[in-house]
Parts: sequence; C-alpha cells; structure tokens
Amino acid sequence: MKTENKLLCKECGGRCCRSSSCIYGPEDFEDIGVSNFLDLYYKGKIMFSYVSDGEICGWVIKPAQISTPQIQENIFIGNSQCIYLKEDGCEIKDYYHRPRGGKLLIPRKCPEGDYGEDCKTGYDYFQAVIAWDPFQHIVEATIAHIHAEERIKSGSEFTYDSKLCKMCQGRCCKQSGCFFSPKDFKQPCSFEYLKKVIDKGFISIVPLSEEQTGLDDGILVLKVRNVDADICDLHGNIASPCILLEPSGCFFDKEDRPYGGKALQPTPSQGCGIGYSFRQCANDWKPYQDILKQLYNFYYDKDIVFKGVI
Ligand code: SF4
Ligand code: SF4
Ligand code: SF4
Repeated sequence: MKTENKLLCKECGGRCCRSSSCIYGPEDFEDIGVSNFLDLYYKGKIMFSYVSDGEICGWVIKPAQISTPQIQENIFIGNSQCIYLKEDGCEIKDYYHRPRGGKLLIPRKCPEGDYGEDCKTGYDYFQAVIAWDPFQHIVEATIAHIHAEERIKSGSEFTYDSKLCKMCQGRCCKQSGCFFSPKDFKQPCSFEYLKKVIDKGFISIVPLSEEQTGLDDGILVLKVRNVDADICDLHGNIASPCILLEPSGCFFDKEDRPYGGKALQPTPSQGCGIGYSFRQCANDWKPYQDILKQLYNFYYDKDIVFKGVI
C-alpha cells in the first residue's frame, strides 16, 4: 500500500530526510554481496549504521548522509541530511525505488499544524536489524575490508596491542588460528616449499567462499591449523583453538606471526576486528590457486600429526 503524501512532505520540506536517511531493506538491492556493497560505498551512495539497543544489535544499510561518516558506529549519533534530499524532495522520484524505510513512511500533520512529530514509519531500526540479520556476515566482511584498506592507506596497518591481548588471554586465538599471507613465508610459495612446511602439521588449507570475499569464485588460502582440524579444513566456521596457542600465549614472537595475527585490531570493549579481511586474504592467495589446489588434493585424505613449527 502506497503511503506517500507528496503535498504534506512538500509543505514540511522533508524534516525527517533533513535530519537522517531512511533504512534500506535487503530487497532494495539487486545483489547482496561484498563487491556490490563496496562499489556503492566507494561511490558514496550507502552508509552502514550499527544499532545496539538492549536486546537487539546489528548493522543496517541506509542512503549516505552529507556529513556523517559512511561507517556509523552508533545509528543514533551524528546523523545529517540524506544525500538524496533535494530542493524539490526525494531525488528518487519513483516511489517504488526508494529504500523500504522511505516507502513505508506515513506522513501525518500534527493537530497544531506542525510537521514531523506525528509522522510514523512502518520500518524502524528494530525491524531493520531483524531484516538484515541473515546478511550480517556479508555486511561485516564488507566493513572489515573497508577498514583494512583504510589502515593500509594511512600507514597504520598494525595496531596490535600485546597488553590488551594478554589481559584478554587470546579470546580470538581460542576460536581459530589466524590467516597467512603469502608474504609470511621465507621462500616463494612453490608446491615443494609449501608441502615441506605443511608437513609439519601447523597449517590448514581452507576455502573462502564467494560470500565471504565478494570475488567470483571460492579461493583456497592458508591459515594456522585449529586443534582437531584436518589439513584440508572444511569446518573453519566451527570454533576451535589455534594449534599454536600455548598457555603463555602465541608460539610466535610478535613480528613472526602470520599477517592475520599481526593485523588483529584489539578493541575488546567494542569487539575486536579481524584486521586481515577475507577479501584481502583471498586476493593475496589468488595467484597461487593452482598450487593450493594440488596441495589440497594431496592432503585431502592424509592424517598429518602436528610435529611443531621448527
Ligand atoms: S532516500 Fe528519499 S525518502 Fe529516504 S531519506 Fe533520502 S530523501 Fe528521504
Ligand atoms: S585481538 Fe582481541 S580477542 Fe584477540 S587476543 Fe587481542 S584482545 Fe583478545
Ligand atoms: S598463530 Fe598466534 S596470533 Fe595467530 S591465532 Fe595462533 S595464537 Fe593467535
């Protein structure tokens, strides 16, 4: 049902759109994927806003705003005018192409003649978090990638803080081993060299899916093996401690850790960031796919015992 009232919104001058932007529903996107979200983000069209309100939390997507960061850590703070609000109203003229929140606005004039106070929406942030819940992993992978690229550009790639991690006692390392970059290895990543290292039993070959990376194909990458995982680990989503996590912490010295361990973003109060995005990791390992496929086939049915790193 169309709830638009052009006349009333024109008289009001779009008070709601001047102070914030409405929220997209997942159906407003032809493609829900990391690549599409990155494209829209870098074109300045969308923003990601985090909702945390008692029993509900998660990311939602809105049209970008003219002076609000496109990654808004708190949806209630720092909102500004929607980029689509023009002098003659919403630039998206076709009502059915507006974000779900814009379509479901119910404009109502207050009895005192004022505008805005009595307007309602049929799609609020609470409903938006529920609608976006099945896609949180895709939004999170997108945001992680944006942050990771920004850190590289600004020269602050590693903000690792061993004091914080010591206090936390390696919560993330108890969930999974971190990811290698090809640059972590002392020699070029040939089949023979990687086989020699993988034979020691502390590395797993894992597939990253198109959903995690936004690339066209699944990509095989290397990570530190989890306790009880096989070399070819198809269960990377099941939490299990890193095989190199010792009672005193990580086996590696700070500078010798895999890139994923060095790039960790320890901010335990807000939830730590992975630092090395799935997309970065997949892009880094893309040139080695033939070798990793051969290794995957080689180790697929082999039971390799962990023999130590050295
Ligand atoms: S997209 Fe249109 S309806 Fe939604 S906030 Fe922006 S100007 Fe308003
Ligand atoms: S990155 Fe965060 S979760 Fe991981 S060990 Fe450090 S403080 Fe703990
Ligand atoms: S290698 Fe070190 S930093 Fe990486 S997951 Fe294992 S214990 Fe953590």
